[in-house]
Amino acid sequence: AAKLLEIKDLHIGYFTEKENVKAVNGISFDLNQEETIGLVGETGAGKTTTALGIMQLLPERTGKITGGSILLKGENLLGISKNDMRLNRGSKISMIFQDPMTSLNPTMTVGQQIRESLDIHNKGQKKAELEKRVDKLLELVGIPAGRKYDYPHQFSGGMKQRVVISIALACEPELLIADEPTTALDVTIQAQVLALMESLKKELKTSIIIITHDLGVVAEICDKVAIMYAGEIVEQGTAGDIFAGKSHHPYTIGLFASIPDLTKDTKRLQPIEGLMPDAANLPAGCKFHPRCKCSMEKCKTEAPYRYEQDGHVIACHLLKQE
Ligand code: SF4
Repeated sequence: AAKLLEIKDLHIGYFTEKENVKAVNGISFDLNQEETIGLVGETGAGKTTTALGIMQLLPERTGKITGGSILLKGENLLGISKNDMRLNRGSKISMIFQDPMTSLNPTMTVGQQIRESLDIHNKGQKKAELEKRVDKLLELVGIPAGRKYDYPHQFSGGMKQRVVISIALACEPELLIADEPTTALDVTIQAQVLALMESLKKELKTSIIIITHDLGVVAEICDKVAIMYAGEIVEQGTAGDIFAGKSHHPYTIGLFASIPDLTKDTKRLQPIEGLMPDAANLPAGCKFHPRCKCSMEKCKTEAPYRYEQDGHVIACHLLKQE
């Protein structure tokens, strides 16, 4: 399959008078067409910053990409003008956020909002054609076209997220970034939204980056997984490799050990003992060492050894073959 996205050695920081926060520290991954990658990790791992970096929607005054490249079909997004990037958003790349209400306008009908998204990139289509596309988009996400005259508050949480997805898909983006798209939804609706994303991927040949705390979500729809910790990817591989339990990074093992029981009402991961380090004050050596049960002397000073086999990457000194 053709490569859609290549991220190489990406660094992103937040700079204020008080402190410099190193949110993303040299991550690399790539994504083929019609492929889904899951970025997994606890809050503060740099997942959302990575997404905002790709979208170039970092907070204007403080957020800054300080190194690396983001290639979309070979073109470095960091080298193009702000205006070209604005055009890319919504035509080539769309993003859906955790809470559907932050993306919906309560004073407009959902039909108007989908129309607005279509209008931005309208290439001379007539009104009637555009209306037909609105109907199609709603039907695509399983909402009867007649409901385009309704306002967001007339939809349930799951239906609202479907509307948000239809808006994000209005311009048939090549890349869809979904930041915790199902966290605000209950378990049954969550399954429906994931199934929807999976079928849309096939139908529209979209590639997806899904950001999540939840390994259950990853198992459901991801082809590849990148486990993030303190702004780095500590383990990366196919979903098959990660779930088959092949030689894991100690942090990944911790994540698996903390998978909640889905029969109980706990959707989020139970935290691993200890806290994610402050990104303004990262520890030396392996950034996981203060919490790692396997930590050795050199873990405190030396950046972890990167072990790679058949595309499965693990950054940990334990894998160093002497
Ligand atoms: Fe643990 Fe050391 Fe491996 Fe880091 S490098 S995960 S501290 S064993």
